[in-house]
Amino acid sequence: MKRRFLHLDFKGIVPRFDRLEEYLRYFRQCGFEGLVLEFDCRVRWRSWPCAAMPVYTPEEAARIVRLAESLGFETIPLMQIQGHLEWALGDDSCAGLRENGTLTLCPSAPGSEEQLLAWMDELRTIFPRSRYIHLGADEVARIGLCPACRARLERGETKFQLYSTHVKKFCAAAEKSGFRPLVWGDMLLAEPDPTEAAKTLPESTVIVDWKYWGKGPFGSTRKLRDSGREVWGASGLQCAWYEHFRQILPFYEDRLENILGWNEFDGTVIHTTWGRSGNKYAFYPPWLMSLPLFAAAGDPEKWERHPWRERIGELSRLLRRALEFELVKVPAKIRAWPASCRLEEESREYIALGVEYQIAANRLLEIVADHDAQLASSRFVGIDRETMLRDLVEAPRKLRRDVENLLPKLGAVFDRNGLVGKEEFLAEIGSQFRRLDTVKPLELP
Ligand SMILES: [Zn+2]
Repeated sequence: MKRRFLHLDFKGIVPRFDRLEEYLRYFRQCGFEGLVLEFDCRVRWRSWPCAAMPVYTPEEAARIVRLAESLGFETIPLMQIQGHLEWALGDDSCAGLRENGTLTLCPSAPGSEEQLLAWMDELRTIFPRSRYIHLGADEVARIGLCPACRARLERGETKFQLYSTHVKKFCAAAEKSGFRPLVWGDMLLAEPDPTEAAKTLPESTVIVDWKYWGKGPFGSTRKLRDSGREVWGASGLQCAWYEHFRQILPFYEDRLENILGWNEFDGTVIHTTWGRSGNKYAFYPPWLMSLPLFAAAGDPEKWERHPWRERIGELSRLLRRALEFELVKVPAKIRAWPASCRLEEESREYIALGVEYQIAANRLLEIVADHDAQLASSRFVGIDRETMLRDLVEAPRKLRRDVENLLPKLGAVFDRNGLVGKEEFLAEIGSQFRRLDTVKPLELP
């Protein structure tokens, strides 16, 4: 069956409880049939009292789920059973669950099974009607390091068996709680024979093949399907950390290629919306940057007629060319895009600010490079005082002023939309401009 689900990763920038409904209604309007909710560190879990940065109470989480279902979404909780538990294992109260001191969960540690089962029980109370649970189980980087796991390896188990035994245990627990289990496919695909690896999981397991770059169909999906297990696809609607160190907009055309490619898949697709690369990484920007992508992912046919479709294409081309004299005209044009609701108005404003940020980030690199080049050439040709003052004193001063004006406007987007993480986001995206401190007027002879 062909269904389009939306995954939301809450460890990033998220709306506070009372501001979430507007998004859920918008996502439903976009055409998504289901929501995969990865609450991560954002719920004050009873089963994980150490949860690092909670935004919602368990009662609020349950209300979010009820609201989503009342809007017509199928809901799927996403937990983690081994990797990507950094938010919990980083707390010393959970030190006993660490794989040899790392922030990966040890499957042999006393108490790890009980801990995860307690979490699954709590998720069951928050998602009482859900048919599926996503167990995560992706990107487990550290396996078999502690004395207990090493002993199992010495007794003949392979590292993959340490992993798959653990996954199977929780697939069975999920079934017992009335959930059909989903797992990410990457650990299976890392095996020499992914088809055989997938066959080690119970037949009812749904394997999700995430491929965030390029256009499907992907060979990996076929290999997983050859195991006889049901396979769903997953796009990267919002992902890729390196897009966000010196820009606060995505590469729209790359995201669209991936999303629209997956939408041609003859099965269920989860469009993933990541908040960070991991708990200990910088934020990805707010969902507002991705509104056009939600529209394209939810209903590609509607997207064909969307008034933003051609505009986003043009914007992508201009951002890639990165010519300031072209880009300076763009924010005013974006602010005049037609908007059909308040969220689209806010998205349009965020995208316009994103272009202004890009102009500043590009100029920063020019100024730093200009400084280094003038410093090098001055040893051969000397210094032209006027040029030096213009490029290395006036230009940095103007850029500092521009950034000082821009950051509060981005902060205001957080305030108007009830988003968490304003100070952190502004600190991250403002940090690179400290490099201006290294630009100094050259010494005149
Ligand atoms: Zn271990």
